[in-house]
Amino acid sequence: MRVTVENKARPCPGVERAVSMAEDALRRGKKVFAVGELIHNSREIDRLMGLGLRELTAEQLGDPRMRAEFDGACLIVRAHGETRQILTLAREAGLEILNATCPIVAHSQDVVKQHVREGWGIIIVGNPAHPEVLGLLARAGENGSIVSSVDEATQKDFEYRSLILAQSTVNPDLFHAVCRELSVRLPDLKIMDTTCRFIRNRQEDVKSFADTQDVVLVVGGKKSSNVRLLYEKACEQNVQTYRIEGPEEIDWRWFSNGERVGVTGGASTPRWQLEEIRSSLENHPIDNNPKGLKNTKGGSILWWMRKKPK
Ligand code: SF4
Repeated sequence: MRVTVENKARPCPGVERAVSMAEDALRRGKKVFAVGELIHNSREIDRLMGLGLRELTAEQLGDPRMRAEFDGACLIVRAHGETRQILTLAREAGLEILNATCPIVAHSQDVVKQHVREGWGIIIVGNPAHPEVLGLLARAGENGSIVSSVDEATQKDFEYRSLILAQSTVNPDLFHAVCRELSVRLPDLKIMDTTCRFIRNRQEDVKSFADTQDVVLVVGGKKSSNVRLLYEKACEQNVQTYRIEGPEEIDWRWFSNGERVGVTGGASTPRWQLEEIRSSLENHPIDNNPKGLKNTKGGSILWWMRKKPK
């Protein structure tokens, strides 16, 4: 088995920034709270919680009995933003705001606010449960609606004069299909493609990478839309693609017909998780690597020793 970790696989700049802001504050001895998961990767969250990060619900944030806990503490705003309600509750609770909103998401929020002031309807293409979408919807107020499929776009009614934009991690194909559908119905539709360039490029990278492998493992959080999207893209190129969170989910039967195993990850998958999978694969005793010897050149070391000229 030859294991290759995709070179370009790394967390997106927004996630890297949020994680390093949290680490930085924790290192300085700050109490740091986040409402829900800071990023969609539970194993990375566990690591940050080991450093002292604490998760809260919106109810706990508004609970006066928690005030003593919040003394001198801060709330980190996730890369995909928070709703105004959360920010108001945090300020009322006396928490310092550590704003890790990704600049790309902050730009979408500003665009929504500006268009609402000018009386536009706002259509957001994305997952209705995603924090970024909820944050944009909260800024759109009564003028906002969410569309998560082309079918929904055909069924719902919208303002005649509307701006349509995307959750940054939504599948660009879905966004363009919804835009095509709605531009027929709404002649005054203003389209703003706010899908993230990093995510768009990663789809192409993953497709090319999957094409060069016999088996592909896409590593990342179960709740991550981006990991799901990359998994789907890899599946288009390679039917032997599997989505996992950690080494314990590896099924060794996947590799019975595969020599070349590719490992890649999503926008919230840190590099250490990819290297951990590489190490598990290279050190596990399976048929074509019977002693589980470390192997970085391709083929087992036993095979290489047998072939070595005397
Ligand atoms: S996926 Fe793109 S928009 Fe979202 S946090 Fe990362 S860099 Fe920012």
